[in-house]
Amino acid sequence: MNDRCFINVTNENNLIKVNIDSRLIESFKRVMLKLQYYLNEHDLSLEVNYEEYLNKYLLSESKEKLSIIVDELDYSIGGDYSSNEKRIRINEDVLNNHIEELDHVLCHEFIHFLIHHHSDILYGSNFMGQLFIDEAFTELLAREVIPSKNIYYGALPNIMNFYNKLVGNNINYSYLFSHKLQDLMRSGYFPKTFIIHGDNCMQKYKDGEYKDDNYQYDSEYLGMQRDIINQFCNFEITNFTDLKVFLEILGNRPALDEEWVTNFIFEHIKPYMDSLPEEKYNYLFEYISLYNSLLKYNQRDVCEIVLGEHLLLFDGNNIEGLNNDITYSFVISGNKSLLQLKDKKGNSINFDYQNADIFERKKTIKQRIEELNKTFLSKSL
Ligand SMILES: [Zn+2]
Repeated sequence: MNDRCFINVTNENNLIKVNIDSRLIESFKRVMLKLQYYLNEHDLSLEVNYEEYLNKYLLSESKEKLSIIVDELDYSIGGDYSSNEKRIRINEDVLNNHIEELDHVLCHEFIHFLIHHHSDILYGSNFMGQLFIDEAFTELLAREVIPSKNIYYGALPNIMNFYNKLVGNNINYSYLFSHKLQDLMRSGYFPKTFIIHGDNCMQKYKDGEYKDDNYQYDSEYLGMQRDIINQFCNFEITNFTDLKVFLEILGNRPALDEEWVTNFIFEHIKPYMDSLPEEKYNYLFEYISLYNSLLKYNQRDVCEIVLGEHLLLFDGNNIEGLNNDITYSFVISGNKSLLQLKDKKGNSINFDYQNADIFERKKTIKQRIEELNKTFLSKSL
């Protein structure tokens, strides 16, 4: 497909026919342009005639005409799309406080509009009843067209990316719209409980229950991740190479879920480990633990500060994990300025924030992993 139908909607003669809030027009133009590029670039063989489609819902006068409006939404999301009302709403909050996300949000909602109608044509109107699948794929796609920095909205595409890598697909626009994927989704290719966990997750997301990256600790989100791992990593590990493959696969998972994953690995490696001498057993144990700690903190470069039972993180600029139990002040020691942290139990630490090496933690872990790797290969087990 080498088309201009999305761009054409934004030419002067056509744009006046589109029912859109004037504050969104510039963004709309950019979104149509990027969607067009994306579609053309991926050389899609779509089954829907988009020109006809856009003419019908954007340019002609009918009851079914799409309206794109700004509204004050009382929930925490950027916008929504209602197929019944043929309406895209953009949250006024985005215009006022997150203008840098506007193109992405508009793109996301517009993709809903495209997918819903497309699915209606292929499968009848109830196909996209799957809240999570709909949302996750829409966001995955919207991020390919226009990147977004919104972390917690990233939770949904992250889990799909993990899934995607495991099943060896490369989901893109054409994939999303092809029969193949939709048939897979209908035929139970996704673990059943995965869909249920996903829908619950979406609901929590809409209710504003996820802040920052706390989805990582949410039982529904972890449920999805565990379903995927159970379904696709359910093979016995019989040697060190298997283990490495296993860890590499699991290394793509979006939530750490350290304890569960560690148990899962040991369950699958037990027969092999049991056959090893104790020394080797211990090496493997350490290897697995180190691999997991490498994934901690969203794989960011941070250094850990242990204060009593509190674990704080320093990323080079800020300290995370501070709360009312902890007080801090600056102290001078020699010619250095140190950050003195104290907790209510009387623990205190002087932290040299100016010389703290945030890369040290990961570097040390990687070196040790490398050492263990060599030990294993040299002792030919
Ligand atoms: Zn959405």
